[in-house]
Amino acid sequence: MINVYDVVVIGGGPCGIAAVVEAKRKGVAKVLLLEKGDNHSQTIRQFYKDKKRVDKEYKGMDSETKGTISFETGTKESVLDYFDSLLDHGDIDIYFNSEVEKVEKKDGEPFYITTASSGFRAHNVIISIGRMGKPNKPSYKIPPSITQRVNFNLDKCSVNEKVLVVGGGNSAAEYALSLCKTNTVTLCYRKESFTRLNEINEEDIKKEARNGDIILRLGLDIEALENESGKVLVKFTNGMELVYDRIIYAIGGTSPVDFLKKCGVEFDENGVPSVDERCETATKGLFVGGDLITRNGGSIVVAFNHAHTIVENLHL
Ligand SMILES: Cc1cc2nc3c(=O)[nH]c(=O)nc-3n(C[C@H](O)[C@H](O)[C@H](O)COP(=O)(O)OP(=O)(O)OC[C@H]3O[C@@H](n4cnc5c(N)ncnc54)[C@H](O)[C@@H]3O)c2cc1C
Repeated sequence: MINVYDVVVIGGGPCGIAAVVEAKRKGVAKVLLLEKGDNHSQTIRQFYKDKKRVDKEYKGMDSETKGTISFETGTKESVLDYFDSLLDHGDIDIYFNSEVEKVEKKDGEPFYITTASSGFRAHNVIISIGRMGKPNKPSYKIPPSITQRVNFNLDKCSVNEKVLVVGGGNSAAEYALSLCKTNTVTLCYRKESFTRLNEINEEDIKKEARNGDIILRLGLDIEALENESGKVLVKFTNGMELVYDRIIYAIGGTSPVDFLKKCGVEFDENGVPSVDERCETATKGLFVGGDLITRNGGSIVVAFNHAHTIVENLHL
């Protein structure tokens, strides 16, 4: 029996931290924070210089906190210490190294939240993954002349193409499955077998492989890509060389937009996720906050205030 959380928060930056702490202070019983990094606040850790001054009033944005969590100007280090103390005193379940891949909702059921290794259920989900996420890229060079044919999502895909999907997770499997009826699809994974697929994807991949609709190349890695007459020449580690119309990498990481699309979030004409004044999407109980719903970037106080608004409007 899977534990159903009152709220699962995805992304442990300022918005996510404020959301879990406020929710707990408000008396919400079961609160879980999932963060893909090995600690909270990856944007601050990775993009702020050491000893950077962190302004409360940042770039003229809202500088008044509306919720129960205060915030004062400090340094990168003092802000991270402050966030540590907020989380330490909150009695909150926190899983680090937990990159969420997808949020699904079926009528009448709680949300289902999937990471590479686990699944969680929740009545409310807050997505606060910021805007800095990027898909992982291969270690070898991608020749600039074929970048249009080397993709990290399905956006540019067409029909009747010879496509190579690279990766062994659910995203790779789902890309291969959605393309295989209208394209010639090969799924290539460097390990000998899939270990991270959910049961449905694993079964469907095996079925399509049996039908001949997906060519499986397991235990095989790629060492280089080259341009061959405008197509992608793939050099595999076993010496084999094959030409594809398109190659799609699904090797971890994702852009925030791709992630939100996968979760069924809609966007306005400016490319900002569509949410109402409660920061709620068209799906009841699915909220988005922080930098994601700002048009030109946000601030820590703005993220805190989104968290406060969301927590006030959770469906409990
Ligand atoms: C260089 C720089 C300087 C800045 N200086 C200031 C300042 O002085 N004052 C100020 O107020 N603001 C400042 N900002 C802006 C501020 O950092 C952001 O507005 C704030 O961090 C936004 O918070 P957030 O919670 O929305 O997202 P983020 O802080 O980006 O946090 C998102 C978190 O989600 C995690 N995540 C991403 N994808 C997933 C996933 N799929 N599953 C699980 N976890 C995931 C990330 O690892 C990250 O920890 C600055 C920004 C930058 C880049």
